[in-house]
Amino acid sequence: MKYAILSDIHSNLEALRAVLSEISRRGITNFICLGDIVGYGADPRACLEIVREIQPRAVRGNHDYAAAGPVGLSGFNDNARLALLWTRPQINSAGRDYLNSLPLIAEVSGVTLVHSSLKDPGRWEYILAPPDARSSFRSLPGSICFFGHTHRPLAYREEGGEITAENGPRIELQEGSRYLVNVGSVGQPRDRDPRAAFGVYDSEGRSVEIIRIEYPVEKAREKILRAGLPSFLASRLTEGR
Ligand code: ZN
Repeated sequence: MKYAILSDIHSNLEALRAVLSEISRRGITNFICLGDIVGYGADPRACLEIVREIQPRAVRGNHDYAAAGPVGLSGFNDNARLALLWTRPQINSAGRDYLNSLPLIAEVSGVTLVHSSLKDPGRWEYILAPPDARSSFRSLPGSICFFGHTHRPLAYREEGGEITAENGPRIELQEGSRYLVNVGSVGQPRDRDPRAAFGVYDSEGRSVEIIRIEYPVEKAREKILRAGLPSFLASRLTEGR
């Protein structure tokens, strides 16, 4: 079975459409969504509608949580907070209900899904280097977990208690090893490559492919500026940071 893995779409409709057309070209019909559907970008409602239509196995991101509910925004930086305050009234009740229905951890075919990290997923910690991955490996029931939150594609492999990082574009999942895999961000890549990122997990072939595709970045940027969102949220899309 092949699954398309989408993470950190962040209201970027242009990137989401480009990714979905590539996924459809590949004939993949099973979807995983690792959270942060909204926040930062200019099209929260349209992105939510599309994600609900493709019916992914999905988990909740910190931006999804903050955009849906009357919760404090003190954990967010200024740009993120301003974007969340702009996003809240854009979301209709169906979108809000959907966001509120998402669990922090989910499972599909023995694979674990989480937005940030596994030990305490509501704390929204970042896994940016092998030591950060240790507590998540301890909390991982099986051998594979897909996660997002950092917007950087990278896989962590644990074998005999040792954790190493592996960079795609193709990760072969070895028997006897355990993996935490980040497939990067659809709508706001931060690895200095502005192309949209998504993953394809092949459960029989035991591999994860990280795919990058061009999308109309300029259009997404213009919409952010026109909406009156912070200009940094537009410029970072071109720079991939
Ligand atoms: Zn995010």
